[in-house]
Amino acid sequence: MLKVTSDITSIRNVAVIGSGLAGLSSAIILGQMGHNVRVFEKSRGPGGRMSSKRVSDGSADIGAQYFTVRNPNFLTFLHQYAGASTFDTWSARFGFQDSDNIWQPFPQENRYVGVPRMTAITRALSAGIDLVSEVRIERLVQAGEQWRLECTEGKSHGLFDQVVITAPPAQAQDILMGSGLAELAAKLVSPVEQILPCWAVAAHFAQPPTDRFDAMRPNSDTLYWVANNSSKPGRDGSGQWWVLHATPEWTKANVETAPDEVCAELLREFRSLTDHTGDPTETVAHRWLYARSADADNPGYLLDQKKRIGLAGDWLAGGRVEGAWESATKLAAAMQS
Ligand SMILES: Cc1cc2nc3c(=O)[nH]c(=O)nc-3n(C[C@H](O)[C@H](O)[C@H](O)COP(=O)(O)OP(=O)(O)OC[C@H]3O[C@@H](n4cnc5c(N)ncnc54)[C@H](O)[C@@H]3O)c2cc1C
Repeated sequence: MLKVTSDITSIRNVAVIGSGLAGLSSAIILGQMGHNVRVFEKSRGPGGRMSSKRVSDGSADIGAQYFTVRNPNFLTFLHQYAGASTFDTWSARFGFQDSDNIWQPFPQENRYVGVPRMTAITRALSAGIDLVSEVRIERLVQAGEQWRLECTEGKSHGLFDQVVITAPPAQAQDILMGSGLAELAAKLVSPVEQILPCWAVAAHFAQPPTDRFDAMRPNSDTLYWVANNSSKPGRDGSGQWWVLHATPEWTKANVETAPDEVCAELLREFRSLTDHTGDPTETVAHRWLYARSADADNPGYLLDQKKRIGLAGDWLAGGRVEGAWESATKLAAAMQS
């Protein structure tokens, strides 16, 4: 069992902004410490970038593709709070194209996915949490020793002793600037510059388009990643769903391109990669403005003890899913001390 000590002298009301893995982990850990925690999420449901898109016969993971676990406590946390049935190893064939365009296998490592979709994990984590969705927090207004949260519609959402912001850096910076917290916002200038966008396309094929690998990182200016979503455990449905991610460079150059054109372009590249000639039966596209962080400093978290505002998220701990959890655990421990 994950050990969380509960030696606080007073219960605090804590607001967490964002219900991705960092926000949900923060809420669970701070709740275990004895605080009253409420999570605010701008989208309809929790999950953030551990996202799955509904398609005609199920769903396709269009955000995080899989995650690795370096810290065994992360696995313990997932078992304890999400449950063993919500995730599994993805035993697929992973390959990348080296600089000579020769295909090589990925190194052996356990790669995990949500079952039957990536959002199964965050859904389960959010089950016992006080989560207010479809509320976009715009600013924090100081009210004595507390913070009042206001949404973009100008409504007040209560008073809190502490606030944890887990939005990606550009959105976190907006909140801080809107709250007159310029000094803290200034610490986000470099992380905001490091964040990379990504166009994602999911395409359904009646017949398998390739059997080279289940997941591939091609040596391509256009495609960063392609994967057979149907090869993940617990995915039902006929045919195969493939997920294609564009490179950051291609995405930057095509941020305003129409989704249909993005689908056509990424599929053209996919065809030349796989020699598949058939058309997909269904496609969906999603644009991530804030997908991943390029290499950056990894302070773990940011905390202004005096102002009682903390920041957590993947971008503070090496990017990626496990980093989001790690950042939340480190921030919660620092808030306790
Ligand atoms: C295309 C893509 C592929 C990826 N592939 C992988 C991979 O294979 N492996 C891996 O480990 N990682 C991968 N990642 C990264 C991984 O998804 C992230 O590291 C992780 O999910 C980040 O979690 P988080 O909680 O820090 O942030 P997020 O998941 O972004 O959560 C932040 C939440 O804050 C909410 N929010 C923002 N602003 C506000 C506001 N003002 N008010 C209220 N709510 C707000 C957002 O809606 C969101 O739900 C990928 C990401 C993308 C996009």
